Amino acid sequence: MADENKIGVYLCTDCGIGAALNVDQLEAVAKKEFKVPVCKKHPFLCSTEGVQVIKDDLNNGAVNKVVIAACSPRVNTEVFNFDPLKYVTERVNLREQIVWIAPKDEDPKEGIQLMADDYLRMGITRIGKSSVPDPKITEVNRTVLVVGGGVTGLTAAMESSLAGYKVVLVEKEAELGGWAKKMHRVFPTKPPFAEIEKPTIGAKIDAVSKDSNITVHTRTTIASIDGGPGAYTVTINKSGATETFEAGAIVLAAGWRPYNADKLRHLGYGRYRNVVTNLEFEQHVAKENGKVSRPSDGKSVKNVVFLQCAGQRDKDHVPYCSTVCCNVSLKQAKYVRESDPDAGAFIVYKDMRTIGLYENFYKTAQDDEGIFLTKGEIVGIREEPDTTLIIEIDNQLLGRKMKIKADLLVLATGMVSAMVPEEMSVNNLTPEYIGNIVKRETSDGVIEALEPESLMLNLQYRQGPEVPHLKWGFPDSHFICFPYETRRTGIYAAGCVRHPMDAVQATADATGAALKAIQCMELTAQGRGVHPRTWDRTFPEIRFESCTQCRRCTVECPFGAYNEKPDGTPLDFASRCRRCGTCMGACPQRVISFKDYSVDMISAVLKSIEVPEEGTFVVCFVCENDAYPALDMVGLNRIAMKTNFRFIPLRCLGGLNLVWIADALSRGIDGILLLGCKYGDDYQCHYVKGSQMANERLGKVQETLSRLMLESERVEQVQLSINDWDKLPGILEQFSKKIEDIGDNPYKGF
Ligand code: SF4
Ligand code: SF4
Repeated sequence: MADENKIGVYLCTDCGIGAALNVDQLEAVAKKEFKVPVCKKHPFLCSTEGVQVIKDDLNNGAVNKVVIAACSPRVNTEVFNFDPLKYVTERVNLREQIVWIAPKDEDPKEGIQLMADDYLRMGITRIGKSSVPDPKITEVNRTVLVVGGGVTGLTAAMESSLAGYKVVLVEKEAELGGWAKKMHRVFPTKPPFAEIEKPTIGAKIDAVSKDSNITVHTRTTIASIDGGPGAYTVTINKSGATETFEAGAIVLAAGWRPYNADKLRHLGYGRYRNVVTNLEFEQHVAKENGKVSRPSDGKSVKNVVFLQCAGQRDKDHVPYCSTVCCNVSLKQAKYVRESDPDAGAFIVYKDMRTIGLYENFYKTAQDDEGIFLTKGEIVGIREEPDTTLIIEIDNQLLGRKMKIKADLLVLATGMVSAMVPEEMSVNNLTPEYIGNIVKRETSDGVIEALEPESLMLNLQYRQGPEVPHLKWGFPDSHFICFPYETRRTGIYAAGCVRHPMDAVQATADATGAALKAIQCMELTAQGRGVHPRTWDRTFPEIRFESCTQCRRCTVECPFGAYNEKPDGTPLDFASRCRRCGTCMGACPQRVISFKDYSVDMISAVLKSIEVPEEGTFVVCFVCENDAYPALDMVGLNRIAMKTNFRFIPLRCLGGLNLVWIADALSRGIDGILLLGCKYGDDYQCHYVKGSQMANERLGKVQETLSRLMLESERVEQVQLSINDWDKLPGILEQFSKKIEDIGDNPYKGF
């Protein structure tokens, strides 16, 4: 139906649009320039009557593509939602980005009318090149694979089962329960959050073991995972025997491992028998049923020193805070006091970090006269002949050094993501490893690939067998907006593999990740994308006959969506795709497009703009995730802006194809500004590295500009977050001024 363009343009005159703009002129643009069969004005388009006008035109077949020229596409989304599988809808933002930013000190009709005319041209051009999606709907397997059987994995399994989904839980150890099972006591979980409690992990293990929806495999590793969301083929290795099954989504709950304390010899570990880690101390107390004794001779202890941040928040060891260790030492100090009321605990900290209601727990330790807390650091340690330790502390509260005679020193060592292989240090994951830990450096400096047995997921993805991660080994996709998402669609990380946390947080995390996994399977079943374009049923379509096997799409996709066919052409998995368009921007052959988004479409949009013969004129490619809403914010706050800009929204700057730059400049447009998210280590790009890819491509634009004999300063990329909306008018003004100084584009008027 949508192959034939029957475009209806609906112009709203409410919200100040009719007063600020000559709507008859807009009507003329639609009818005379584009000859659309239907163009109607309405005084209140989002009203029931207004929407009914559109519905009637759709129902009687007069129209199959709807251009709403009214408010921002970010509002009234449900009101203007016509069956997306039958009709294409395009929104032209006359309100927020034209009428509401109208300058007060010049003839408003002049500049904003030109803007509105152009935006309508751009919208009609865009919809003319769009067609309804043809979603890839395939049979979806709805089993959740949970990797890891600790508190996070158990919770994710239970929550998925409670929601009615089958689960396969894979645990490499012989038993379920993970570290939680090895704890003597746990932090307070109930008000007033003052007392340590007995662990309840046993009940969780029982519940999972008895749940008929959950199949548990212990002593099992993942040999391979192929496919994508809704259709993973998982092969497990169970004590040498392999088994293959299907799954629809994956919760990665592999947890953590302790930092290797052998690297803390300067704190006495490995040199003195009575220096132990917090984990060793916990296991010792659990084994002895609460009794605290010293490892060297089994004698009961009178004095225990706890050293916080042992090798943590330290660039040479674990550079970050593991968040739980302060509470762990408070808990373990209570073991000392419960074991022997005459014994004392001395906690030496850099800072005590007991967030939220754990502050109450901290207070109970402060109130205990047998627990001493001080800010400081250990500056010396030695062992007496009877194995007693003499620990010298630089007490930063008292401002002097002091010596403590201790039976035991407990080091609060940190948590390392289980994604980081045992033999690798978290603090020196070189760029070689960053993104996908699949190689290690041998002691003689050789980089070698890890064997499949050392890997966690063994993904059969072209971009590598593990989920990419941040610099310290924690997998992520967008820390702020999309917790749990990894850079592999359908795989959701939860618990300490994602970042350090305690069991209470891990439980909440597991629930979140299980829901994301379920959401992914259900959206995949409808052929829809997952975050952030959950409504999107389009996917990249490739004209293979023109593909030159350059492999850029397979390399640049931030989500590893493409594998590779034997001839080097991309093998696409629609369900892995997040619909960002980065591959479309990467493809030099311009053979990748979506039903409603293509290189050709944006080129046509650029050509539809009427470039004025005089004055500086700028086109901005705007990321729809942060920059576009930031522009709306400028309008919402009624901040006046210059009208010599035209904004073209992109799904992500990653979709930027360099041909658009050439198209725009050869049309006489004076400057091009790219407004996108922050990139780099602490990126904010919603598609991980789209804005970075755009920047890298811009590095190559120089060639195009030299060919056109134009200055490279005419093209600039700005990194922007939505919070920076108030800076936007200034940024645009400044860029406009710079272009003005460079002078007119010599192609103007051709
Ligand atoms: S680059 Fe984006 S649009 Fe292209 S396949 Fe990857 S996720 Fe999909
Ligand atoms: S980027 Fe384009 S030409 Fe290169 S492999 Fe992918 S589809 Fe083919």
